[in-house]
Amino acid sequence: MKRVIIIRYAELFLKGKNRGFFEGKFESNLQKSLKGISYKFVKQSGRYLIEDFAEEETEEVLDRLKKVFGVHTISVAYETDSDLDSIFEAAKLLLKPSGTFKVESHRGNKKYPMTSVEISRELGGMILDYTKGKLSVDVHNPSFTVRVDIRDFGRALVFGDFIEGANGMPVGTAGKGLLLLSGGIDSPVAGHMMAKRGMVVECLHFHSYPYTNMQAKEKVVELANILSQYTGVKRLYSIKVTDVQEAIHEHCKSPYMITLLRRFMYRLAERHAKKIGAQCLITGESLGQVASQTIEGVTSSNSVVETLPVLRPLIGFDKNEIIDRSVKIGSYDTSILPYEDCCTVFLPDFPVTRPKIEDVLKEESKLDMEGLLATAMDSLEVIDIE
Ligand code: ATP
Ligand code: MG
Repeated sequence: MKRVIIIRYAELFLKGKNRGFFEGKFESNLQKSLKGISYKFVKQSGRYLIEDFAEEETEEVLDRLKKVFGVHTISVAYETDSDLDSIFEAAKLLLKPSGTFKVESHRGNKKYPMTSVEISRELGGMILDYTKGKLSVDVHNPSFTVRVDIRDFGRALVFGDFIEGANGMPVGTAGKGLLLLSGGIDSPVAGHMMAKRGMVVECLHFHSYPYTNMQAKEKVVELANILSQYTGVKRLYSIKVTDVQEAIHEHCKSPYMITLLRRFMYRLAERHAKKIGAQCLITGESLGQVASQTIEGVTSSNSVVETLPVLRPLIGFDKNEIIDRSVKIGSYDTSILPYEDCCTVFLPDFPVTRPKIEDVLKEESKLDMEGLLATAMDSLEVIDIE
């Protein structure tokens, strides 16, 4: 008998002609997620098994697998010979000291000499005898369930619970996007949502060093690190927009600072996206959340992006819904750490909330657009994560 972890996937994405492609990505994502851990990876029909890992690493393995998109459920199980006595030995390890239980059996191998109903009844009886009245059977609302899955080659899997996986599609099956990652709550959630649809999510941050400090940078690196546990992307791009902000501050009307800076960010993001082969931009914008996210504000920044689509998965979400997701994915505590965002540098007292495009263009015409873009692009840094 040995301890294993069963990984089940959502069948849906494995159907059809692309099966091999999806499966290949999924397997390599699973293996990538377990980097640094020693284990054996076994492929069975309809599931994968993780075997031969150190028992004390069980929680770590589960934590990592729970973040791999495409995983439907996970169980810690015992793999044994498929005779009833061996199954019973494994089942003993799953018993609680008191309460009610039921046995659920499933035969992957239909040649097994007993039906699943017979297996459940026999094994249930053995457990009742063994626990001498401390446990009783309740098939409708048991306090725990012993599950038996008869496999091929005289083997069986015995386990208790199903742990919910991340679901979604394997990362790498739906193209590549570039996430504009700030230090806030929203953008990591937006990136997570697109990765869940199978997109490889690269991250780009704009900073205003020396106006923003090292802690601000470390915070964004940590957010990228949290995201990387879902996406597998182990780097963060960063671009300095200090010169852009100084130029806007010097030459343009102050209420336009955020509007103009956003347009620079989007232009720079599109240029960088094309360099790295990203097919879209992703932002954490949500309609009406702040002054710059009115439909006029969104239109103003959107209009500088020449060819790529800008995906805004949070556009219709309430702040509370975004916060709930951010707590679930584990980015919230980092996102709320205090820091200076580049946008708070030179922040105007009264930003325009409904910028008119002709006014924006007039302010922008006061700037050396190409020069500023080129300087900013030159500041590009690649930060490795881990
Ligand atoms: P977030 O919580 O993601 O910071 P927010 O509510 O603070 O969002 P804004 O500051 O208006 O909203 O930013 C809108 C979007 O623009 C962000 O979700 C992010 O995608 C992008 N963005 C803003 N600031 C930066 C930055 N410094 N670097 C990269 N992207 C940024
Ligand atoms: Mg922000």
